[in-house]
Amino acid sequence: MTNSISERVRAELETAGAMRFGHFAYTRADPPYQQGDWHGSFYLNIGDVAHDATFFDRCGRAISRETHRRAMWPIEVVIGPETLGRNLAQASAARLKVPYLWVGMGEDSDGKKIATEAKRNNYLRFLYPGARVLVVDELLNNGSTMQPLFQFLDRLRADVVGAAVIARRNQNITAAGLGVPELIVLHDVLDAKAKVVYDPGTCKLCEQGVPINRDVGYGMLWAERNPHHPSAIATS
Ligand SMILES: [Zn+2]
Repeated sequence: MTNSISERVRAELETAGAMRFGHFAYTRADPPYQQGDWHGSFYLNIGDVAHDATFFDRCGRAISRETHRRAMWPIEVVIGPETLGRNLAQASAARLKVPYLWVGMGEDSDGKKIATEAKRNNYLRFLYPGARVLVVDELLNNGSTMQPLFQFLDRLRADVVGAAVIARRNQNITAAGLGVPELIVLHDVLDAKAKVVYDPGTCKLCEQGVPINRDVGYGMLWAERNPHHPSAIATS
């Protein structure tokens, strides 16, 4: 993505207060661990800018232009996961002039993340075998939201022409790694502090008793599960 778009997205996220530094518990939930068990010092909360329809419109326009530049057409439908992926799907679809769909994200009986069909929007009308689909989401961390969505589309034998995100936390997550032909990233988070993610039980911020953030991510749930932990007792 061109520097100017990346810079503009970063500036807008910064201005909105979406790039937060502190002690956070993340969504990631690879068994045997649960949501909230992975911690780190950075949280990108695109919810801080979710009220700004013009921001999503600018992102949708940039994504649209990039699909043309990369010759990803024809694109027949855009799909994104609830909640902000859905907003981005709508904004992108308006620029691409194609329909958009959304899916919910749930868990199966083993606690594995799955895409749940959005029955209300007649998805089968658009997701027929061979339908050319662009998948969008606001944030790419480790691909744990995108993968269930790809599996969902795979079951319907739709053809994923690529994925697009506003921001990517981890540059190791690539189109090839996700198994899609193209990956559009409007902004790569390059701040060194944003890279620090601790595996469960190894968090340096927990060791120091830094209060866990309860506003975003899974800090509140983690604190409820670990009520005697110094980071749960301490309040900022
Ligand atoms: Zn911690």
